[in-house]
Amino acid sequence: MSYMAWGSIRCFGEAVRWLLFGQIAVADFAGNSRHKLEPFSSPVGVVPMDTQEAPVSRSGQCLCGGVRYQLEAEPLSFMFCHCRDCQTVSGGGPAAIVMLPKPAFRLLQGTLKTYSKRSDRGNMAHRRFCAECGSQILSELDARPRFVFIKAGTLDDPASLTPRANLWIRSAQPWSAMDRTLKQFETEP
Ligand SMILES: [Zn+2]
Ligand SMILES: [Zn+2]
Repeated sequence: MSYMAWGSIRCFGEAVRWLLFGQIAVADFAGNSRHKLEPFSSPVGVVPMDTQEAPVSRSGQCLCGGVRYQLEAEPLSFMFCHCRDCQTVSGGGPAAIVMLPKPAFRLLQGTLKTYSKRSDRGNMAHRRFCAECGSQILSELDARPRFVFIKAGTLDDPASLTPRANLWIRSAQPWSAMDRTLKQFETEP
């Protein structure tokens, strides 16, 4: 098999894995509402919700309270990222990350400062944090432009989320307690 053909198959496999992961995550978090399975077609700032359910209201803030934000859709997934960059910025084992469609993030107050760095995969990651207290709030990835990745610990009610997966387990620390019943990914789905 040629290198090119093998590369195409690998790319295709990755796309399917992300798709499956996304569908599982969406099904888990958003129920069976057809409305919520198509959050990406909505205009910026407006995410359709099932009128029979109470409006989603999730908010969060940084340590000093200068930055406050609101999420206008339910998370698509909640996962732990064990990549070395997340370990460095979180100062611990994995970073706890909530994935949402980008238009669902609304900054209510404060200013986010950005530090951009190329990931192990070679893609740019833009990490945004409070310029005053340094709390990491969210990341945006050039390779996944339709999503935003919020640090779960900054939510006002992080206990209401259920984790789904561990990413980048190949760089997980040996002392990092990992729930093996979650989906495991050597790197990323
Ligand atoms: Zn702050
Ligand atoms: Zn990471």
